[in-house]
Amino acid sequence: MTSNSDLFLRAKQVIPGGVNSPVRAFGSVGGTPYFVTHAKGPFIYDAEENCYIDYVQSYGPGILGHAHPAVVKAITEAAAKGTTFGAPTEAEIKLAEMVSERIQGLELVRFVSSGTEATMSAIRLARGATGRNRILKFAGCYHGHSDALLAAGGSGVANQGLSGCEGVTPGAVADTIVAPYNVVPEIDETVAAIIVEPVAANMGLVAPNPSFLTELRKVCDQTGALLIFDEVITGFRLAHGGAAEYFGVTPDIWCFGKVVGGGLPVGAFGARREIMENLAPLGGVYQAGTLSGNPLAMAAGRATLELLNQEAHTQLVTTATRLADGLDEVFTAAGFSVSVPRVGSLVGLFFGDQTPPTNFDEAQKLAENGIYSKVFHALLRNGVAFAPGPYEGLFPSLVHSDQIIDTTLERAASAIASI
Ligand SMILES: *Cc1c(COP(=O)(O)O)cnc(C)c1O
Repeated sequence: MTSNSDLFLRAKQVIPGGVNSPVRAFGSVGGTPYFVTHAKGPFIYDAEENCYIDYVQSYGPGILGHAHPAVVKAITEAAAKGTTFGAPTEAEIKLAEMVSERIQGLELVRFVSSGTEATMSAIRLARGATGRNRILKFAGCYHGHSDALLAAGGSGVANQGLSGCEGVTPGAVADTIVAPYNVVPEIDETVAAIIVEPVAANMGLVAPNPSFLTELRKVCDQTGALLIFDEVITGFRLAHGGAAEYFGVTPDIWCFGKVVGGGLPVGAFGARREIMENLAPLGGVYQAGTLSGNPLAMAAGRATLELLNQEAHTQLVTTATRLADGLDEVFTAAGFSVSVPRVGSLVGLFFGDQTPPTNFDEAQKLAENGIYSKVFHALLRNGVAFAPGPYEGLFPSLVHSDQIIDTTLERAASAIASI
């Protein structure tokens, strides 16, 4: 048996920091990452044959749990027919039809290979469609790692303790305005777009104030800026029609990722016809991808969305509520000052205050108090895997049964007794 630490040493010889995405290196919680051998349903197994109940679920794609039979079958069947062609397929049409059926107001959608590509392309599209340069984002919202959107990002950027990013030129972010989340910004007619996570899920979970999204819609309507919802996490998770349906606010452009790919590399962005027609080959905004609309990825996405009916969404909310209420109870009983914010099926976890944060400054104060990493390691030792950083949410899936949640809560109770 190879140990996690042996693998980590070996990985570091050939991969920067031993990982292909920074949060995985355990930098913000300390210690050695577990190297995964396989995963099934709610469980993930490492090189030392430890089994964890997994609440990372790849940070969101695993809404059906790991290796769901329908997804495995869809990918296997697609793979046998060829993995990439550089020519269009019916599989792309089918997934596009599913997306536009679910998302009211989205008429055309283009598939890319990551959430980063989706938001990057959405920004370019917004600039092209409006002829304006500036964009506004909110501190603590993460929109992937394209240059213009890396300013004051959450998730991995925050986990690494970076305020910005070396290698991003002042020019690349000169047209990016950063504003505090949950405060309606004043903008003028130089702004092409406001991009927002309708529920912020990369600074821990921060809910939008009741009027925040409707006010953003108004500000955009008044100034002619486009409203972009980055639904890479909320899309197909928060509700059948995502955050737009959940909050009853319709953006101009949607970005998707994670769930829409069913565990394969997929992102997507879409809008009403008139906006999307600015994209090449119809319009002058260039955007492309060798592996975009990849047949395996389309098959995995379709198999996943097919299982996400209203009943599934109701079940996810029930599961998330059981988890959130249970964690709150367990930690409170152990004397922790804790908040477990929940919006629909999205769950966050903050230590140090019973009032959940409303913006990045407040979230950072709680995230940086050092409590999370102690809890994280205690849970891991007890067979429960939360994200290795305080800025991520929890991702219970459709196979996290009541029994799995209850086992999680029992393990959490004994884990914190050991801190
Ligand atoms: C994960 C995430 C992204 C980036 O997606 P990648 O597939 O990692 O490039 C963008 N926006 C949000 C809200 C995300 O959570």
